[in-house]
Amino acid sequence: MSNRKIALITGASSGIGREFATFLAKSGYDIIAVARRRELLESLASEIQVFGTHTKVVVADLSTGVGVKSVIDEASNVDFLVLNAGITRAARVGATSGDEIARLNTLLATGVVDVCEAIVPKMMQRKMGKVVIISSIAAFTPMPKSALYAAAKSYVTSYGRSLNLEVRKSGVQVCVVCPGYVRTELHQQAGLTHLRERVPNWLWINPEDVVEAALRGLHKNKSVVVPGAVYRLARPFLSSTLAQWIWRRTTKRY
Ligand code: NDP
Repeated sequence: MSNRKIALITGASSGIGREFATFLAKSGYDIIAVARRRELLESLASEIQVFGTHTKVVVADLSTGVGVKSVIDEASNVDFLVLNAGITRAARVGATSGDEIARLNTLLATGVVDVCEAIVPKMMQRKMGKVVIISSIAAFTPMPKSALYAAAKSYVTSYGRSLNLEVRKSGVQVCVVCPGYVRTELHQQAGLTHLRERVPNWLWINPEDVVEAALRGLHKNKSVVVPGAVYRLARPFLSSTLAQWIWRRTTKRY
């Protein structure tokens, strides 16, 4: 690595993580790109070389303790941490094995917290650092047949909100980003391709919108941000029965 600042992005091989990596590379960061698909990470690395970026590719499965430890080892000196890797999961209650639940929780929830617990104190010692946790609007609204996903996202949202308040005077900024529907590979990977048709176009945002909202959130030191004007307007009403009924009808998972 050069003497440029360093950003570590989990889930950098596609979607929101890839967008983050490209944006931060353009902004002058060297990149540590983490995911399972090496070939996609390598193609990202060669694409962002044009910005003078040095990229370290780290292949890791973050649904395992070994994978999470490799991120902790790589992240000890980073200036910007984007904890984004994830999958979505649609399954009726009882249809997910204990092992799958444990892996999902490590990937979306406890692994994210483990990385923060190890790295944020180091950032505090240096009195600088930015942390973005990509959560979901599922943290605010019930998602039948995706209860495990919604629960994991609630966990990291709650953790990140408290962490923001705890460290805000130390020079470290923590922002949790809670997107609604984003045009990425996420739903296709989960066998939910029908949502592209079912969910109306005006509810979809782009990965750039998520990056933009995260940067705005960090700049204002907000603990939680919701990208996209429609979602921001709807957020205060998400706890109402009517809003939840409309949301469930529009985004039905089966
Ligand atoms: P993508 O499927 O495009 O990207 C997911 C990324 O996570 C990929 O880089 C993938 O890389 C990585 N990943 C998945 N599983 C693992 C694993 N076990 N170990 C390491 N890396 C993994 O989807 P998005 O960009 O949409 O998803 C990013 C985040 O955004 C997720 O946390 C998701 O929950 C959240 N989000 C997305 C929404 C959407 O509508 N798209 C809405 C709300 C939240 P690889 O397969 O190479 O390992």
